[in-house]
Amino acid sequence: MAESCSACGACTKNCLFLQRYVKSPRKYFEQALSSTLDTEDRKSAFYCMVCGSCKAVCPKNLDPGRAFLAVRGDIVTDNGGAIPIESLKSVNNHQKLSFSALLRTLKRGRR
Ligand code: SF4
Ligand code: SF4
Repeated sequence: MAESCSACGACTKNCLFLQRYVKSPRKYFEQALSSTLDTEDRKSAFYCMVCGSCKAVCPKNLDPGRAFLAVRGDIVTDNGGAIPIESLKSVNNHQKLSFSALLRTLKRGRR
């Protein structure tokens, strides 16, 4: 992603997330790869909607949304399986509650 991005800005024009948190996908992923990205900047990957709009307009056919998703996976792995963002804590609770035996309404193997 970082090597192929020409920093043309086409994706940023259409995306409020990129405009507000990332500015340059090329720089973000260069720094993410070299582990020089500030921790809070790295976490901003969680605010990508993974909508695919960036991929649709990218002249290099890159998929920044997928790359942000991969960064999110790395962050969660580094954090022992939990999302390290206070405002997204409900996602961890949702995972716990939605799949708890107490609240589960579906039976395994049934549709
Ligand atoms: S997938 Fe993420 S980076 Fe791409 S346009 Fe959507 S919100 Fe922006
Ligand atoms: S549209 Fe593609 S090449 Fe242009 S800045 Fe975005 S990711 Fe890079």
